[in-house]
Amino acid sequence: MYDYHSHSFFSDDSSVPLKNMIEAAISMGIKELAVTDHYDPDYPDKNFPFDLDFNLYHQALLAAEKEHSKNIKVVKGLEMGIQHGETNKKCYLAASDFPYDFIIGSFHCCGGQDLYSKYFIERSDEDGVREFYDYVYEGICDFNNFDVLGHINVIDRYVSKIPDYSQYMFKIEQILTKLINMGKGIELNTSSFRYGLGERTTPSKEILALYKSLGGEIITIGSDAHREKQLGYKYKEAIEILISHGFKYITTFDKRVAKQIKI
Ligand SMILES: [Zn+2]
Ligand SMILES: [Zn+2]
Repeated sequence: MYDYHSHSFFSDDSSVPLKNMIEAAISMGIKELAVTDHYDPDYPDKNFPFDLDFNLYHQALLAAEKEHSKNIKVVKGLEMGIQHGETNKKCYLAASDFPYDFIIGSFHCCGGQDLYSKYFIERSDEDGVREFYDYVYEGICDFNNFDVLGHINVIDRYVSKIPDYSQYMFKIEQILTKLINMGKGIELNTSSFRYGLGERTTPSKEILALYKSLGGEIITIGSDAHREKQLGYKYKEAIEILISHGFKYITTFDKRVAKQIKI
């Protein structure tokens, strides 16, 4: 297993020591674990600033990589929260400040609001989803120092009912085309199973099919684990989804360079 999305107590929404996550991953037989703690500059919820103590984090990553090198490859990563404007300058600084192996670029906000609290109180599902994908497209035009776009349809977690996606597929095609042209990829994020989204996977089947048809090849699998038990979650199902869409490889990263692994 190659779990390319995980969190530890360096993230504001996890309390599990990094050591425990890595030991759990080893005991599950995970070959490579990307530690991708949150850095979400200017996140609007002050109770969860998603700031990161970079000094401590970098030291911990380097120490963990060395200590466990015989048993697991610890991929030194980051989940970068992208927004617009000045925030992205902070993202650029953070991305270039350390020799990461892998950076996930994720959108947890839109127009200065976090997605889970007030965003949909002020707009309909249809409008909120449309604004989100417009925001993502503009965001990746402005900030592109990442390797894969995280949980592309994360917005589906927060709607009361999934709107008819045919109205957004043109914009999603623009996003995927932009990613492919920049040499970036996407991730299959298995947390959709934990969130009880059922058939609505992340990405959804229609987005995954579109990515494949556009020539997209770079794709990681990540559990988005915040606790030990969530590591490697539904990995087998994720592989099956990829195979059923014609993918023959998953992607791993070392020093920001992609490597394709046959599945
Ligand atoms: Zn995320
Ligand atoms: Zn995450």
